[in-house]
Amino acid sequence: MDLMGSLPIRERATIAGNIVNASPIGDMTIMLMALDAELELASDGAARRLPLRAIYLGYKTLDLRPGELVESIRFRRRPGLLFNFEKVSKRTFLDIASVNSAAAIRVENGVIVEAGLSAGGVAPVPLALEKTEKLLRGRAPDAETAWAAARSAAGEATPIDDVRGSADYKRLLLRQLVLAHFQVLFGLSGELVEVPA
Ligand SMILES: Cc1cc2nc3c(=O)[nH]c(=O)nc-3n(C[C@H](O)[C@H](O)[C@H](O)COP(=O)(O)OP(=O)(O)OC[C@H]3O[C@@H](n4cnc5c(N)ncnc54)[C@H](O)[C@@H]3O)c2cc1C
Repeated sequence: MDLMGSLPIRERATIAGNIVNASPIGDMTIMLMALDAELELASDGAARRLPLRAIYLGYKTLDLRPGELVESIRFRRRPGLLFNFEKVSKRTFLDIASVNSAAAIRVENGVIVEAGLSAGGVAPVPLALEKTEKLLRGRAPDAETAWAAARSAAGEATPIDDVRGSADYKRLLLRQLVLAHFQVLFGLSGELVEVPA
């Protein structure tokens, strides 16, 4: 929590505001995207549900009708689901991310059976790394998989050069954050240090 905004911002900001603000680097948005959250939207008595992943159509462009409000946000609780969030910003505290990423992974019998992976700051919208999620399913959570996921994620990203860093730097950050998920969730460390040829 210390990595998100400042105390006054954390006291005032809402999660629906974070989602509808549609910043490509919203922290809660990235976490909820990895958890495959669903939005309940309502306007004038009409209600509908929409996966969070489906609401972003382009930079700051949302599939939200005039007057429609986010009434609630839900995601399924899955026993055994491991979750991690990583954020790199120019200043450690009180700063918006240069790149952030979340992972929600469930392993059964030594194999990844469920994988949610998202990243912010690497595309015009908060990005669900769907190709990398697919790549992860059915594989052991080992160093080889971590490197494959890190490279795949970097390939899915389309960052731009801006005040937070060059596109190349952000791609590198994303790769490192995906490796960090594996380090935190599966206790890998030494295996992740060396870049295989
Ligand atoms: C100094 C500072 C630091 C910040 N640091 C961070 C940070 O570290 N991480 C981060 O993610 N963000 C950060 N932010 C951005 C911002 O505070 C957050 O995105 C926050 O969650 C926005 O929530 P809000 O309730 O203030 O939304 P608002 O700014 O009030 O609203 C944003 C948009 O959402 C719409 N909206 C709000 N609620 C709903 C709803 N229920 N249904 C439909 N539309 C709605 C509003 O109409 C508006 O268009 C920071 C901002 C500042 C000023």
